[in-house]
Amino acid sequence: MGDKENSGENTAVETIDRDALRTKYREERDKRIRPDANDQYVEASGRFAHFLDDPYTERVDREPLFDEVTVAIIGGGFSGLVTGARLRQAGVEGVRLIEGGGDVGGAWYWNRYPGAMCDTAAMVYLPLLEETGHVPTMKYTFAPEIIRQAQLIAHKFGLYDNALFSTEVTEHRWDEATSRWIIRTNRGDEIRARFVSMGTGPLHRPKLPGIPGIETFARHSFHTSRWDYGYTGGDPSGAVMEKLSDKRVGIIGTGATAVQCIPYLARAAQELFVFQRTPSSIDVRNNHPIDPEWFADLEPGWQGRWLMNFATLQSGGFADEDLVKDGWTDISQRIRDRVIADGGDLSPASMRRAYEDSDDEKMTEIRLRVDAVVGNREAAEALKPWYRQLCKRPCFHDEYLQAYNLPNVHLVDTRGQGVERIDETGVWVDGSHYELDCLIFASGFEVGTEYERRSGFETFGRDGLSLSKHWDDGMQTMHGIHVRGFPNLFIVGVTQAANLISNVTQNLTEAATTIAAIVTQALATGADEVEVSAEAERAWMKLLEGTSETFLADPDCTPGYYNNEGRPMGSREQLFSSRYPEGAVAYFAFIDAWRNAGTFEGLEFRERSS
Ligand code: NDP
Repeated sequence: MGDKENSGENTAVETIDRDALRTKYREERDKRIRPDANDQYVEASGRFAHFLDDPYTERVDREPLFDEVTVAIIGGGFSGLVTGARLRQAGVEGVRLIEGGGDVGGAWYWNRYPGAMCDTAAMVYLPLLEETGHVPTMKYTFAPEIIRQAQLIAHKFGLYDNALFSTEVTEHRWDEATSRWIIRTNRGDEIRARFVSMGTGPLHRPKLPGIPGIETFARHSFHTSRWDYGYTGGDPSGAVMEKLSDKRVGIIGTGATAVQCIPYLARAAQELFVFQRTPSSIDVRNNHPIDPEWFADLEPGWQGRWLMNFATLQSGGFADEDLVKDGWTDISQRIRDRVIADGGDLSPASMRRAYEDSDDEKMTEIRLRVDAVVGNREAAEALKPWYRQLCKRPCFHDEYLQAYNLPNVHLVDTRGQGVERIDETGVWVDGSHYELDCLIFASGFEVGTEYERRSGFETFGRDGLSLSKHWDDGMQTMHGIHVRGFPNLFIVGVTQAANLISNVTQNLTEAATTIAAIVTQALATGADEVEVSAEAERAWMKLLEGTSETFLADPDCTPGYYNNEGRPMGSREQLFSSRYPEGAVAYFAFIDAWRNAGTFEGLEFRERSS
């Protein structure tokens, strides 16, 4: 297989030995399967709680608040911001953001490591571009511009006015007697809210690798989502981290975050050691500026059209043109071309074959690119990903692989086993000790772990039932938004709805528009409570049955948080990743028709009974 792989530029799928490729994928996966799966990760609490401290904003003392709002929005990231914006557009007063960070931005507030940028094109990723008038500067924007868009939304819709920052919710509880939520925070606040909308991550809650001895490291360390510029120098705009020029720096993890910050560390550190367990797939980035004159000519309503075009191409649909044209739509384009060349056969077997061929071709190109870019043969071999592109988060970068050509950058490949242990002064791999001044954890977030670990606080609904207990056997909702037993509560996320992972913000904006319509209806009709009926919730769950059975359960897929760390998904895990059966575009059409019908089918609007 290797000979065929490396024999030249021709990546025609006929030259790929598919059986050998599958065997290799399986072998690489088997090396990485661990019985402890998600439990291998350590929560940033207890002795690791300092990994959550906010390095960006100083906490200012204030008196606790005891008041009431119409809608409390927990989380000031894009979920909360677009919900707030839609509510304000609908004329709803008394909206309050409650946010643990010192400003809006959510995941982007925390993840301001050098080089942080969005892998999804700004034209579709940045929400409410037409509403704010912001013109993206680049096809893919860096974190500072993304935070500015978050701030722009907050300013434009008056969401700063009533907001509480550096304030963490500790619990919120439904009060049956008054039909209000009572929200308690780590500032001693007790806020009553008629409605609560939760947009709580989880890309703000870092997790740590459970490597033996991690607690003993006595030099400097931090997680990428709490970048310590005080220690490194530099800033989020990418200025050189001059304080690292005499430092030996180690980084654990080579996921989407590490791929973006490693080129900056490589430029700054005296020596950089990258501890790799599984290489990411690194496709080309090809970033370029957006021409403001071209942008000015876009017809009103352009963003909606771009969003639907991108979503269509992402969910197996056909479109006359590909407006975004990037690494996400490339694979869809290839599948489409193959199906058309095959006489337009849309049967599941033909689509599957077209997908597998396209993926084999794409991944072969990605591996050939490593050979073309990385000079050191040993490093190049170790940097090649042996799995399907979507088994792990695909990455796109034009400086990451190049960093391994610098003499101060050392790839320490752990051959799928991970770091062996950590001691006071450094890291052990395969019996060798790497002494470090600073150890950076690029080890990801509480995505696949238990629900209460992900949200960081508890929600108590009717009769004191906690949401995590209620979801012990898996998430249960209608539309991914409403939960029976938790009146006047809305969840803003991707799951049990469109589940469009390649453009998260589109899911959020759709949920926000829906929530604003429901709140408006409740206020207009004087309803004290809005709750999904048990029957409607059951019907939705029935509709979603079996929808998380995707290729991720494929025995060739390497473990990661996309596939429950390779452990077969039980019904619980499946429910946490289920989606509308006909795909994202169909969901968006469905929910648009549902909210515009004005009947809000499945919801009970009622007066307080007591
Ligand atoms: P990930 O969870 O994707 O990566 C964690 C990394 O840590 C993996 O490389 C993992 O290896 C490694 N690791 C874990 N334990 C060990 C160990 N014991 N020894 C060695 N290595 C270990 O986290 P990221 O922060 O990179 O990305 C999280 C998500 O954030 C992305 O998937 C994406 O959704 C989002 N993101 C989005 C961006 C955007 O453009 N919008 C940019 C950056 C991040 P292994 O692979 O073997 O498990």
